[in-house]
Amino acid sequence: MAKKNDAKRCMMCGAMETADTTVVQVFDGLTLCEDCISYIDNARDQALAARRKDTPSGVHKKEDIPTPHEIRDYLDQYVIGQEEAKKYLSVAVYNHYKRIAQEAARDKNAPKAALRDAISEAGDTDVDIEKSNIIMVGPTGTGKTLLAKSIARLLDVPFAIVDATVLTEAGYVGEDIESLLTRLLQNCDYDVERAEKGIVFIDEIDKIARKSDNPSITRDVSGEGVQQGLLKLLEGSTVLVPPNGGRKHPDQKMIAVDTKNILFICGGAFDGIERKIANRMNTHVVGYGKDETLKKKQRDNLMRYVLPQDLKSFGLIPEIIGRLPVLTALNPLDRDALLRILTEPKNALVRQYKRLFEIDGVHLEFTQDALEAIVDKAIEYKLGARGLRSIVETVMVDAMFDVPSMHVKDFTVDAAYVLSRLDQANFDKVRLAD
Ligand code: ADP
Repeated sequence: MAKKNDAKRCMMCGAMETADTTVVQVFDGLTLCEDCISYIDNARDQALAARRKDTPSGVHKKEDIPTPHEIRDYLDQYVIGQEEAKKYLSVAVYNHYKRIAQEAARDKNAPKAALRDAISEAGDTDVDIEKSNIIMVGPTGTGKTLLAKSIARLLDVPFAIVDATVLTEAGYVGEDIESLLTRLLQNCDYDVERAEKGIVFIDEIDKIARKSDNPSITRDVSGEGVQQGLLKLLEGSTVLVPPNGGRKHPDQKMIAVDTKNILFICGGAFDGIERKIANRMNTHVVGYGKDETLKKKQRDNLMRYVLPQDLKSFGLIPEIIGRLPVLTALNPLDRDALLRILTEPKNALVRQYKRLFEIDGVHLEFTQDALEAIVDKAIEYKLGARGLRSIVETVMVDAMFDVPSMHVKDFTVDAAYVLSRLDQANFDKVRLAD
């Protein structure tokens, strides 16, 4: 802790740094306390939200479109690392807005003249900007869904997260492919026009991969047929969507949706794709020292060298890959990233628990070694970021039960406490049930 005479002072509210108040040097010459930082964050979010409300739904004036940097900065508040994926997503979403603005400018029936000014600088509106659907490849629990959700929060275009695993080809048990759009329609109260400019995140796209690289003579119920169906949506066509999802049935009234302007973001763990990447790289790295090069690259995480042909080897059909031109990989999360995830995001676990205790008037503190013990357990049990929550829940349950009746002002969680709670809760056995 800082000594009294070099304690920092918040330049906004004047608060001094104390055990209860953290004052951060934001940059040289600016120090702010945590409260003021979150006050500024909230004010910024409200301003962004207000700005979005001023514009008719789903359409933006050019100057109102958040820039890729702004989108990335927003994602930074919630998602640790994954810089490349953030960059690709920010650009794709930015371009998506611009496409929508262009469409609005072309639309003579646009609801307000302001919309036609939307791309006043754009000039030539004859050029069709093609949408760039995205595919994110990366181990489970590394932030793919979190990125998609965070974008959803920022945007005012309709957004839906759907799971590819429930889909099957027409005629088989499961949901029709068009039902992917049901959620999108529901999320905008069946306003078809808005839905047609929305964003759909399709999770677990790898689960509809063809089981073998060779097209099979027999039908591959969960694989190629579904991909062919999906292709129709990705390419852009008018499809009939069952308003309540599930399977279509003949006497159901369908809703026609044009997918031309819907941005699709796909995500998948693609377990084992590293082998395909390694095979490809092995054949392409020629001559002396190729093994050394490969080993080094393996160490550096092969996933980041993923190319469209690896997706093909994995079992996605080339037509689908062609319709997902933006390919980006997410990195596995290392110890440092997990530690940051515990404390840094706006709604980080540690912040959430501190807040819960604060409501009871109790100052909750996690020591650094406690945080490290939590992360080490997540690594030991291969639970990744997703496991952090169940570990912290297990550690905190007794404290949450007892502290409100203990009339204490402070509660500190250290490594010994973490380990004793996990031990007592038989965490190593319980986790097998996860
Ligand atoms: P997936 O890649 O499987 O879609 P998720 O985005 O659902 O993974 O991550 C699961 C949880 O783990 C998230 O809700 C979040 O709490 C945490 N998490 C994962 N990756 C990150 C990250 N990069 N930054 C912050 N939290 C993360």
